[in-house]
Amino acid sequence: MTGKALKAQIEADKADGLIPFFVCGTVGTTSSGAIDALSDIGSVANENGLWFHVDAAWAGAACICEEYRPFLDGVELADSFNMNLHKWLLVNFDCSPLWVKNRSHLLDALSITAPYYRNPATESGLVSDYRDWQIPLGRRFRSLKVWFVVRTYGVKGLQNHIRKHVHLAEQFSEKLTSSSSPFELFVPRTLSLLVIRLRNSSNEENKKLCDAICARGFYLTGTELNGASVMRIVSGSPWVQEKNFEKLWDVLVEESQKIIQSRLN
Ligand SMILES: *Cc1c(COP(=O)(O)O)cnc(C)c1O
Repeated sequence: MTGKALKAQIEADKADGLIPFFVCGTVGTTSSGAIDALSDIGSVANENGLWFHVDAAWAGAACICEEYRPFLDGVELADSFNMNLHKWLLVNFDCSPLWVKNRSHLLDALSITAPYYRNPATESGLVSDYRDWQIPLGRRFRSLKVWFVVRTYGVKGLQNHIRKHVHLAEQFSEKLTSSSSPFELFVPRTLSLLVIRLRNSSNEENKKLCDAICARGFYLTGTELNGASVMRIVSGSPWVQEKNFEKLWDVLVEESQKIIQSRLN
């Protein structure tokens, strides 16, 4: 999404008698890893009084590395921001930190002041009562999992974890785009995500190929981009190694040869 496209959509919606009030910019979309122009979207959103949310569920994890911080340029214009620690930052499911610019919206809507909740720590402002930021009162102690992961790996260790997966994908993309490769990169690589398609093939063939590869233990996700069936390769496990990618390459080539041969039958 660009600011220009958003502006045009807002005008079209208003002309249709609608009242635009919310826009979500994405840092790393699921199907293609696209990164929206947050600065431009944020300016248009702020000018038009829209709530601007930034969804960085997957790619937000990479922003713990200095080199990927620019993905978040413009996030200062957001009203809310969310990323998941359970996807690529080693915290067990579930853990999705949400940041809001102005907590009073939540407090005004959700706080409860029954007499049995009154206590000196709350009244002096010593603590933040997160029960007032959400619909349920009780909440799990998810931050404990985060604490253990950060203490175990350290910031450097977590950055190395991210960089390892990006590096593996970078290496694999060279193989995928080599002249002898039967595949094409359907969109440019984003971080550790590679979106591929068998060259000169039909959607049916790509779906069949994706199923065949999954049946062999490599869990690729099929998706559609602009009507084309494609496969997504993305790693995030701390156990993944270069040799796993080498095996994946063999499986990709073998299964694609079967597809190509089946055309002749
Ligand atoms: C995974 C993902 C989601 C879903 O996140 P949940 O926290 O499981 O709801 C949303 N947006 C993007 C871009 C994602 O990658």
